[in-house]
Amino acid sequence: MKKRIAILGSTGSIGTQALEVIEANPESFELEVLTANHNAKLLIAQALAYKPNAVVIANEALYDEVFDALDPHDIKVYAGANALNSIVEMETVDLVLTAMVGYAGLQPTIRAIQAGKTIALANKETLVVAGELISKLAREKGVNIYPVDSEHSAIFQCLAGEFHNPIEKIILTASGGPFRGKDKAFLETVTKAQALKHPNWSMGAKITIDSASLMNKGLEVIEAKWLFGLRQDQIEVVVHPQSIVHSLVQFEDGSMKAQMGLPDMKLPIQYAMGYPNRLKSDFPRFDFRNFSQLTFEQPDLETFRNLQLAYDALAKGGNAPCVLNAANEIAVAAFLNDEIGFLQMPDLIESCLAKVAYIAQPSLEDYVQTDAETRRLAEEFI
Ligand code: NAD
Ligand code: MG
Repeated sequence: MKKRIAILGSTGSIGTQALEVIEANPESFELEVLTANHNAKLLIAQALAYKPNAVVIANEALYDEVFDALDPHDIKVYAGANALNSIVEMETVDLVLTAMVGYAGLQPTIRAIQAGKTIALANKETLVVAGELISKLAREKGVNIYPVDSEHSAIFQCLAGEFHNPIEKIILTASGGPFRGKDKAFLETVTKAQALKHPNWSMGAKITIDSASLMNKGLEVIEAKWLFGLRQDQIEVVVHPQSIVHSLVQFEDGSMKAQMGLPDMKLPIQYAMGYPNRLKSDFPRFDFRNFSQLTFEQPDLETFRNLQLAYDALAKGGNAPCVLNAANEIAVAAFLNDEIGFLQMPDLIESCLAKVAYIAQPSLEDYVQTDAETRRLAEEFI
């Protein structure tokens, strides 16, 4: 049976690669829904090429443009955040790929789980903000969440056949980003153009900045806690600049399993969508003759303070990771807008963590309020 797929954020880096995966595997997947935020032109082109049942454009001002282009082709068109939340409940959808960026993914992910849809999760911010709530809801509804993030996919792949065996610890690999080995004096003056040049992966702007600041790894530590039900002291980070070992699991007998391959997001995307099957692909293969050395080093938590701030927020629990995420989203947007420097991002996040009222057992409403309050405060600091 073909899996019927909804892609939230089809115009982004993950979204467009997911479309390539669907196109290459027509016997496995059928496209039902595409959604985008602002990029009406690309959304229209994608819909005309892939013929989904329905599309949603989040920005309501663009509804007419999308409707005029797609209505003659029998493709349903909706607009706005509410439509985004309800489209995931569509009866003909089996699997929702959450490939939108940031906090905006929270509500549609919750609605998709409530509707019993399998989740292929790229939108890590959702688990950072409300990991406890989401994983509890998924357990209650018997919904599986398959990771798309390459590190978490690696761990998931290492766990196949081992789900009954306890994990001793996991080791998330980090490329270190474009500023690996640099000191604070260097980071003081880096520009967004420098920060946007990732050595190994081509990704959306927000995650590329997060990779340069190591916040991405911090978000991934929190993501891993909720995906795999781990304590914080079971999650380690190691810098591995070649990005060939995508992460490792250590079991209670001391044995370690790693998953390896060339960095290509299409592989974890198709593993999440195709699970439990490995689909044939023609992606370039790793060859040891081209890599005489794979190296590993400790992350520099003093220079790259965001990773430490994420560990601290996770340890504090409650709404602290939600504050961390919202402050970081504002900080990254301000950095990309040339309003603050690279090293002011952790300063801003730290100030927000200190200022926003702590809630130990947040409800969904509390998360929504914490997010709004943190954004307001962060804008004020800027
Ligand atoms: P991107 O910026 O390239 O694309 C984001 C997509 O989300 C776009 O389609 C955009 O239209 C949509 N979107 C943005 N804001 C929205 C909103 N408010 N409402 C509705 N839709 C909205 O981002 P990306 O690099 O593809 O990353 C997407 C997610 O996947 C992020 O959470 C990121 O952390 C995660 N991820 C990405 C990669 C990667 O290689 N790009 C790897 C691992 C994880
Ligand atoms: Mg990752």
